[in-house]
Amino acid sequence: FITSQETARHEGLPARVPTGKGPYADRFGGRLVLVTGAASGIGRATAFAFAEAGARIVAVDRDAEGAVRTAELARLTGARDAWAECCDVSDEQAMEKLAAKVAAEYGVVDVLVNNAGIGFSGSFMDTSTDDWRKVLDVNLWGVIHGCRTFGRQMAERGQGGHIVNTASAAAFQPTKALAAYATSKAGVLMLSECLRAELAGQGIGVSAICPGIVNTAITTSAGFAGVPEEEQRRLQEKTARLYGKRNYPPEKVAEAILRAVAEDRAVVPVAPEAHGMRFISRFAPRL
Ligand code: NAD
Repeated sequence: FITSQETARHEGLPARVPTGKGPYADRFGGRLVLVTGAASGIGRATAFAFAEAGARIVAVDRDAEGAVRTAELARLTGARDAWAECCDVSDEQAMEKLAAKVAAEYGVVDVLVNNAGIGFSGSFMDTSTDDWRKVLDVNLWGVIHGCRTFGRQMAERGQGGHIVNTASAAAFQPTKALAAYATSKAGVLMLSECLRAELAGQGIGVSAICPGIVNTAITTSAGFAGVPEEEQRRLQEKTARLYGKRNYPPEKVAEAILRAVAEDRAVVPVAPEAHGMRFISRFAPRL
């Protein structure tokens, strides 16, 4: 028997998040937590964080193999149970099918983390219609589909719940190098605000998390690889000014998501230990 941490180290995967040992140990005992984009980066770390807190995990990703691996590791990390589902979040029908399947086989989701996303670099003028569609389809429509399908089930059940949407600091940091990406994330932020107001009376919390630059595949591979170096440096410096840190590991984002949900707060104010996470645009700085 090897621990997930050893497995993770062996495979070069992110190590598990230590938060489950703290105040949230078993806080989510048996709760059903669904994370999209769970095969990698922030999504995988978030699945591990909730697993450590005793949740049941549904790891969703279009990368089937990666999602299965996350589910396996989540079980080793302490999840009561964990399953993998292959789904493209931008496909409305597939998401509806998934929601029906999850409800029938595992139950209604208590915590939904709409995290799947793609990076894309390019100025407004240089971005083709197809690329605009691709980015908005995944980053914005993917979140809309998630909130609509799983959020509706939560509301109908009438026992509350939490939705956390992964936006980005790009949502309020204008940059000519990330026009489509930043626009999609600004949409996620406002969607979260509107939905929070709409669902507040039903005991469902809605948060948007706006990480700065996180060390994941999206920043190191195709995603932002096209952003000129000078612009990357400028963004990093902006992030560092705002958050006091240049890049931080996905586990820190996962920890912030877990804390927001565990403490039952839709809005988490900036705290030094949050390593630059800001929730909800109302607290966003003007640059
Ligand atoms: P990542 O590339 O490591 O993970 C993204 C995951 O989403 C991958 O597993 C990918 O297969 C999956 N995915 C992509 N499109 C999908 C689709 N259509 N359907 C289902 N799954 C899909 O990157 P990450 O940094 O962990 O990104 C997670 C989220 O965090 C994204 O929404 C991203 O925009 C956001 N974010 C990242 C950063 C950063 O600096 N890394 C900063 C702010 C926000």
